[in-house]
Amino acid sequence: MAMYPNRDGEYMMTEPGSFKPGRNGDVVRIIMHQTWAPQSITDQAPINDSFWTKQTGDAHKANSKSQFGVSAHFTVEGDGRIFQHVDTADGAMGTRALAFNAVHIELASKDQPLTTDQIFCGVDLMAWIAREHPSVRLVAVGTSNKDHGDKKQRGITCHSFVELAAKVENPKLACRGPAILNQMNQVAVLASVRAAIF
Ligand SMILES: [Zn+2]
Repeated sequence: MAMYPNRDGEYMMTEPGSFKPGRNGDVVRIIMHQTWAPQSITDQAPINDSFWTKQTGDAHKANSKSQFGVSAHFTVEGDGRIFQHVDTADGAMGTRALAFNAVHIELASKDQPLTTDQIFCGVDLMAWIAREHPSVRLVAVGTSNKDHGDKKQRGITCHSFVELAAKVENPKLACRGPAILNQMNQVAVLASVRAAIF
């Protein structure tokens, strides 16, 4: 069991196939995502929970052998509240490659910069992840879709970087958004400082 003790609540995924129990093994990366919903929508965690449940359920109704599933471990709301969806010991289905051995964080944003509250609470979460999963390095991987980092993707990375590094077809190039991209290094530096004084 790996539940973030400072969470504001949880909307745990229960739909079969939406996550892989026990699959996370040695966690080496934190993958940042944006929710694609504006920060003015204040309660996005329950929306994510029901949307991912429906998408996964529909895929398995259409094809019972489908490997499709969708989830993330956490949603960080615009006001910094954090909700958990998947135990970090379990694998979340957040990317089409390198999805496991990773903690996926959905940040409420539609191409908006992270709010001060999201940064403050998000780095606290990342520091806890690194304490719970000591192979995670709190350093930013890559700087842009053209410089997305090596194929190991060990550190704080994002949806587009892991899919580019793994050369998947049609990588989700805009996931984490241009404004969050500019904040990734700042987030990594603050998370490493936070971890040092835990
Ligand atoms: Zn994403």
